[in-house]
Amino acid sequence: MTTQTSYEGVSPFAAGLRSRCPRCGEGHLFKGFLTVADHCDSCGLSYDFADSGDGPAILIMFPVGTIVVLLWLITDAMFHLPAVVHLMLWLPAVVIFSLLLLRPFKGVLIAMQYASHGGKRPPANGGDA
Ligand SMILES: [Zn+2]
Repeated sequence: MTTQTSYEGVSPFAAGLRSRCPRCGEGHLFKGFLTVADHCDSCGLSYDFADSGDGPAILIMFPVGTIVVLLWLITDAMFHLPAVVHLMLWLPAVVIFSLLLLRPFKGVLIAMQYASHGGKRPPANGGDA
């Protein structure tokens, strides 16, 4: 535990991209590859509020799909590769790019959730009741 009591100035993007606590920016956010820890090991913030849902997967699909299709088209125009070679190249690329981006995107979404709700779980009905 640190003795720091003021946590101003922690950027949700910096904390999320580094998979760090959205309040202190030091503790680990994940206890596995994508499993959110119970609490921050530095400041003790409970991560009960963290629920990114399918947000990271949706946000990753668009850039990864765009990048892979562009690479597919460029390599096909340059080298005229058979379709099976493209599949052998780009299917693993989709998996690798997605796995590389999933954790930082999930971290940023959780950090933004903390920044907008102050560590409280947002109401399930969106606050309309
Ligand atoms: Zn913390």
